[in-house]
Amino acid sequence: MKIIIVGAPGSGKGTQAVNIVKKYNLAHISTGDIFRENIANKTPIGLEVQKIIDGGNLCPDSLTIELVRERLSRPDCANGFLLDGFPRNVEQAKALDSFASPDKLVELDIDFKKIEHRITGRRCCKNCSESFHIDNIGDIKQCPSCGGELFIRKDDTAETIKTRLDVYVRQTLPVIDYYEKQGKNVLINADQSVEKVFEDIVKALDK
Ligand code: ADP
Ligand code: ZN
Repeated sequence: MKIIIVGAPGSGKGTQAVNIVKKYNLAHISTGDIFRENIANKTPIGLEVQKIIDGGNLCPDSLTIELVRERLSRPDCANGFLLDGFPRNVEQAKALDSFASPDKLVELDIDFKKIEHRITGRRCCKNCSESFHIDNIGDIKQCPSCGGELFIRKDDTAETIKTRLDVYVRQTLPVIDYYEKQGKNVLINADQSVEKVFEDIVKALDK
């Protein structure tokens, strides 16, 4: 199974991605996580993209496409993969179609008014990269799943959210249209509990 998951920042995309890869035994490819790892390790790629990401803008296509192309060529992707955060614009979608055309695109639909609260209360795990909301876990420092250290993403600020949403509307919504024309879209109401959203995704994928 080759799947893309798309959703505005704060839609629960990362959380559902973790659930999907566990259930279907897929390789989880999160371009955001790959970039954040590069930033943490101060690699040349990390240094190149740090300011772009902190500002909520998209990293260069050529760089991002190459990273994904290389990642998809590794053996763990042979059994299928879930792309989380890629493609984020039509250029990237066209590139992906040239080396690994997806079977389905899962779109998480969320009311934009809910987004700010979801993002400003987010805590991410340095170790397993799962994310949580302080409404559910309180203001703790350790990951409830693995005990790793929790951190606040530098781009999870009220100011940056505006830019990220704007980028989503202008650049990523056209990707949804692009795959809709290929009949690959699955629309999921993301304004429900994590469990219910996942249930809906499984139903749609198992169809
Ligand atoms: P979000 O929660 O906003 O969906 P991600 O973790 O997927 O966040 O991505 C964080 C940031 O990493 C993006 O705002 C962007 O700067 C960069 N990034 C991630 N994926 C891509 C991509 N496919 N193309 C360009 N930039 C990307
Ligand atoms: Zn963890």
